[in-house]
Amino acid sequence: MDAIEVRGLRKTYGSSEAVRGIDLTVTRGEVFALLGPNGAGKTTTVEILEGHRRRSSGEVRVLGDDPGTAGRAWRARIGVVLQDADDAADLTVAEMVGHVAGFYPDPRPADEVIELVGLTEKKRSKIRQLSGGQRRRVDVALGIVGRPELLFLDEPTTGFDPAARRQFWDLIRDLAAEGTTILLTTHYLEEAEALADRLAVLAGGRIVAEGTPATLGGRAAAGANVSWLENGVTKTEQVADPTDLIKHLIKIEADLKSLTITRPTLEDVYLSLIGAGR
Ligand code: ATP
Repeated sequence: MDAIEVRGLRKTYGSSEAVRGIDLTVTRGEVFALLGPNGAGKTTTVEILEGHRRRSSGEVRVLGDDPGTAGRAWRARIGVVLQDADDAADLTVAEMVGHVAGFYPDPRPADEVIELVGLTEKKRSKIRQLSGGQRRRVDVALGIVGRPELLFLDEPTTGFDPAARRQFWDLIRDLAAEGTTILLTTHYLEEAEALADRLAVLAGGRIVAEGTPATLGGRAAAGANVSWLENGVTKTEQVADPTDLIKHLIKIEADLKSLTITRPTLEDVYLSLIGAGR
């Protein structure tokens, strides 16, 4: 059984259609990233899958159940990090994590979760005294405390400093290695590249591309830009396969210290995809 199956999902708000017929499958154990510009429909889609919003039409199965009608037992199997979590600011970190742990049948120990998100030194601080990035880490702690089979992360690392982001990536990799299925949205392309087995790009409520980070939008087949110095002048050529060009450069004794070979980054591919999707 797949963790998430979506067919023909649509959501309208009044007269505007935010999600326009999405098909999506996330298999068990997969880390799947949803990318797309502001307003593309990512949060709407994710919150429908979490059972936090009603869909207008389409088929949705999450861990085998319809999130629109699934009950508490289903809810205990998923973990959620919302985009705008509303923290109970007067509790301490330890109180908050301990409190939420009580909702689950087999929670992780609160201290372990607090350590996993790097907040041990702050566990006795009130949440309202934390920085924005530290609060976001509390949100992540609350999402994983119940040992979810499936974890939804909506822009989880917004406001994280670079070290905290790397620590978070390690946490996600550990959860994935334990078999947790993860659906995340992010605006950080390097985060999607670092974490996702597969990803989809949403634009204007539709999926405009789907693939692995290496192959999305024809990335693997895209040519390489080769540049080098020749008699003090930079030369550049775009080639499908640089092998013959490099052999030639060796033969003519070109200055290979200056050689660079670049391919489109995930961000390059993403930007061209959303341009095409508009
Ligand atoms: P972001 O990257 O900014 O978080 P997103 O891809 O998550 O964007 P959504 O929040 O799903 O986008 O919004 C998709 C569209 O639906 C937007 O045009 C938004 O204005 C609209 N929308 C979202 N929520 C509501 C709502 N509760 N009522 C009316 N319109 C809404």
